Amino acid sequence: MKTLQAFRFALDPSPRVERALASHVGARRFAFNWGLALVQERLEARRRGEDVEVPWTLPALRREWNRAKEAVAPWWRENSKEAYSSGLAGLAEALQNWSDSRKGRRRGRRMGFPRFRKKGRGRESVSFTTGAIRVDDPSHVVLPRIGRVRTHEPTTALRSRIEAGTARILRATVSREGGRWYVSFTCEVERVPQTPRRPHAVVGVDAGIQHLAVLSTGEMIENPRPLQNALNQIARLNRELARRQPGSRGWEETRRRLARAHARVANIRRDAWHKLTTRLAKTFGTVVVETLNVEGLKRNRRLARAIADAALGNLRRQLRYKCPWSGSRVVEADPFYPSSKRCSRCGAVKDTLPLWARTFGCEVCSLILDRDENAAGNLAALAAAVAGSGPET
Ligand SMILES: [Zn+2]
Repeated sequence: MKTLQAFRFALDPSPRVERALASHVGARRFAFNWGLALVQERLEARRRGEDVEVPWTLPALRREWNRAKEAVAPWWRENSKEAYSSGLAGLAEALQNWSDSRKGRRRGRRMGFPRFRKKGRGRESVSFTTGAIRVDDPSHVVLPRIGRVRTHEPTTALRSRIEAGTARILRATVSREGGRWYVSFTCEVERVPQTPRRPHAVVGVDAGIQHLAVLSTGEMIENPRPLQNALNQIARLNRELARRQPGSRGWEETRRRLARAHARVANIRRDAWHKLTTRLAKTFGTVVVETLNVEGLKRNRRLARAIADAALGNLRRQLRYKCPWSGSRVVEADPFYPSSKRCSRCGAVKDTLPLWARTFGCEVCSLILDRDENAAGNLAALAAAVAGSGPET
């Protein structure tokens, strides 16, 4: 069975390598911004009634770039061509998302018109699909134009698969997050289909607010303690940033530390989810996960940070790719399935259940249960119903 899998490693680049990485990321940003300016200019011309073509797709943007690059970026040869392609591909995708969103063809948050990218803001990245992309030894990778880069963590997990002929690198993406460089290899991986330990067992997972998750077995998975510590640090740095003069050296320093803290939170969260989803996929034949509307919940400010933490989207995505590896199945509950407001014993549904209520009390059958445990029980029941109606796709 062939599947796609990403392997991500933190990097420890030398100053020379770091300059090359920054240059590539900068080249990507340059191409993105250049393309966006061109699109705006053409849209403007069209509004004036001129008959011009607006380069909306990647091939159209590439054609325009190849025509213009000698004039607008005579230094373009300093970076891999893929840096510019990567920027134009990002722009084409952002333009597509915007028009899909406007026509109501895209789920989730409304996407605005793409905006110019600023240096050092957000996640900056660049992708390579051709040229020398290798995992050289347990502590070095090779990237096109950049050369050998030392890794901060061992690459063994990927290297051993490549040597055994069970993994092939399709793409390498380098990114800078919170002042640290990472490389992520997207690979085609050959897997031996497996069977979960309890193929007939069903588990419901409720992405919790006060816990990382609650299982229908009653098990609660705590939020990792370092996560809470990092969150407290973010709150403190935010207050510090507000006191500083925008643009000053102190402000810049606080902003850098804030970005590092955010990157740390994301990493802790990712690790915690990975541990949980691997265990679930290997153990249970069916995993039911609630498709909470994360975007909708973000409007509730009190919940916003907690939900962002729990990152339900991450849970779903990880289960979607891990369950097939281990021969288990994921069932995603309907977002309107009243898993928290429904009694898991008698099925009575409450009109409302305030968010602060941690216990579920049923007026019909007088069941009293932890709120999350009740919800998880409902999800397992839902899975059993779905299982009876044939496999999910
Ligand atoms: Zn009841």
